[in-house]
Amino acid sequence: MQDFIYQSAPMRVVFGAGTLRQLPDELSRLGVVNALVLATPRQKDLVAGIRAMIGERFAGVFTGAVMHTPVEATERAMETVREVRADCVVAIGGGSTTGLGKAIALRTDLPQIVLPTSYAGSEMTPVVGQTSGGIKTTQSSPKILPEIVIYDVDLTMTMPPGLSATSGINAIAHAVEALYARDRNPVISLMAQEGIRTLAQALPRICIQPDDRAARTDALYGAWLSGICLGAVGMALHHKLCHTLGGTFDLPHAETHTIVLPHAAAYNRDAAPEAMARVARAIGAEDAAEGLYDLAVAVGAKTALKDIGMAETDIDRITDLVTQNPYYNPRPVTRDGVRALLVDAYEGRRPVRR
Ligand code: NAD
Repeated sequence: MQDFIYQSAPMRVVFGAGTLRQLPDELSRLGVVNALVLATPRQKDLVAGIRAMIGERFAGVFTGAVMHTPVEATERAMETVREVRADCVVAIGGGSTTGLGKAIALRTDLPQIVLPTSYAGSEMTPVVGQTSGGIKTTQSSPKILPEIVIYDVDLTMTMPPGLSATSGINAIAHAVEALYARDRNPVISLMAQEGIRTLAQALPRICIQPDDRAARTDALYGAWLSGICLGAVGMALHHKLCHTLGGTFDLPHAETHTIVLPHAAAYNRDAAPEAMARVARAIGAEDAAEGLYDLAVAVGAKTALKDIGMAETDIDRITDLVTQNPYYNPRPVTRDGVRALLVDAYEGRRPVRR
């Protein structure tokens, strides 16, 4: 075993079914008087229930959360923050809504309560990615880490099977990269393996029966574990690729992760054999990369970047951006290697061992 440092994040997590009911108590714990509720336009109906539940501590709502946290949306939300004199943000939604709450906290240091409704995992990290002029940059700060996360399985029951599948594989991606992170440690690696295992078993069940409560509970548990991994150790080539693709072309986040992950795993196959063996074991496959691809197919997800809005002529541009300033990666990041990976992901080829 290599030497390691382990540090856990100072946050409170409430997990279960019907836990949304605990929001008033959690607001009291923080001494909140004026809570601003955040959501996307699609999930704005959730706000009425929260309003009824928290009574006069409901200061207002902003339902303009958008994917990849464009700074224009954050600036609009900041006007509402000032208008209602918010002393807390309550983000109910997927990673986009969580991202908006974090962007506000970065600017104000307001406390955050997050009620995740997808498996993105952002709620467990002190990182926010913000987009301005088509460029997505990330920032990390203790101010960004949410104070309280309330996981309520009931809030995930409405997630359509397609989003459940890709959002779940997005979570798996955090855990896969945690297993070969330069700063990995044995505790996070255990969480990563358990996160991959629970998600890989739960997602096919959810696709067959979206109201399978036990499967939904397992998936949310796996997503929480994977989110911890994302917040605790450094990410590598896979996250760099998805981040660049998402920020540059506004590609859908979870679908991009789902398509790229098997190819990133194939890229690192021989450079991180121990991590790949753990991934393979967790998903019950012979080979991690092939198993991740087969999982995506099994849950009905798209497997080619050309099918989610990327143009073939963009491959060189992304290759340049990814190789200019690469993250740590177990296998050195080369132009030829990344280009070949992107061609495979663009075409949606199964990453067979050659
Ligand atoms: P999302 O939050 O944009 O959700 C996609 C759509 O599904 C939205 O319209 C949303 O309202 C809807 N939705 C979410 N949950 C639902 C539910 N239970 N029922 C019905 N509809 C539901 O997408 P996402 O994949 O959750 O998050 C992606 C964003 O999160 C990206 O901007 C990404 O960069 C960010 N992210 C950040 C981190 C981090 O650590 N900083 C980690 C993961 C993701």
